[in-house]
Amino acid sequence: MKFIDLENQYSALKESIHTRIQCVLEHGRYILGPEVRELEDRLSLYTGAKHCITVSSGTEALLISLIALGVKNGDEVITTPFTFVSTAEVIALLGAKPVFVDVEHDTCNIDATLIENAITSRTKAIIPVSLYGQVADLDKINAIADKYGLPVIEDAAQSFGAEYKGKKSCNVSTIGCTSFFPSKPLGCYGDGGAIFTNSDSLAQASREIRVHGQQKRYVHTRIGVGGRMDTLQCAIVLAKLEQFDWEIEQRIELGENYNRLMDEHGIARVQQRPDRTSIFAQYTVMVAERTRLQEALTQIGIPVAVHYPVPLNQQPVYQSICGGENTPVAAALSQKVMSLPMHPYLTLEQQEFIVSNLASFVK
Ligand SMILES: *Cc1c(COP(=O)(O)O)cnc(C)c1O
Repeated sequence: MKFIDLENQYSALKESIHTRIQCVLEHGRYILGPEVRELEDRLSLYTGAKHCITVSSGTEALLISLIALGVKNGDEVITTPFTFVSTAEVIALLGAKPVFVDVEHDTCNIDATLIENAITSRTKAIIPVSLYGQVADLDKINAIADKYGLPVIEDAAQSFGAEYKGKKSCNVSTIGCTSFFPSKPLGCYGDGGAIFTNSDSLAQASREIRVHGQQKRYVHTRIGVGGRMDTLQCAIVLAKLEQFDWEIEQRIELGENYNRLMDEHGIARVQQRPDRTSIFAQYTVMVAERTRLQEALTQIGIPVAVHYPVPLNQQPVYQSICGGENTPVAAALSQKVMSLPMHPYLTLEQQEFIVSNLASFVK
């Protein structure tokens, strides 16, 4: 059994993937070739966001967004401690301070009711993360941000394809950033990512920052990075888009089936809100004695993972950068969360097997 099954996906899409790759090898425009714009147009259409700018990774998408917004030394950016390290890293890289706000105990997403208290005169942006495939409470977050004139960047690395009140993730705030890391819901075969926005000026800034702050060839008007996504990786995502809608349907169906089984066995799990879809990038439960359960499940061939074992404000490097905010909910969750196999090729039988064994080990 696989935690994430990329092999079955490759078998299903083999011909399209090979044709797409072949095409790039033939035309030879490896950097900013035609597939780059083709993918950007397709994803822009898919999300409804006016602009899509592909970049070299999800991390780079966040970094370029913050540079485009002008975040700099001494600024503060509000985010969640319960996420992958990238979210806070890009803030710190620019000399700004990540300000960690605690999360909701049932969705594990940032708690919108705690954000306003964390805003100071130095606050320059808010980065909620749509964790495990479910969009954070962006209506509430956008409303608070509007009140203080702050931009909101949705870290949608895990939620591409999810919906929030009828809008697609990546198109629910000032900027949306996603990742095409192979194991994400829409992955390439290397590193890749994208920035989404409806703002012409932020899109223009992001495009320039992506290529060394270049306005036109050898005219550099900003400090930028080398942050382009390869033509080949864009070609691979284009091939994967062919069955992406089906994959999303599968994910939702399998996630709901997991929910039903967990509820039957009384196992605590991440909850989903009725006004949005989760695409279950991860299927995550909350358990006591996690180490024992991990060992027992691994032993019978069920792979598990922990997202994430340490909240970022407890990581050595961020303890010194931040004020060591107290985020008790994130701290408690980090001891309990455990993610189970989840991908579009998981079967109902496999789910029964996973949950019945988990339930027996819990007892
Ligand atoms: C994966 C991930 C990222 C980083 O994406 P990369 O493409 O690996 O750089 C950022 N934030 C979250 C929440 C992620 O899950």
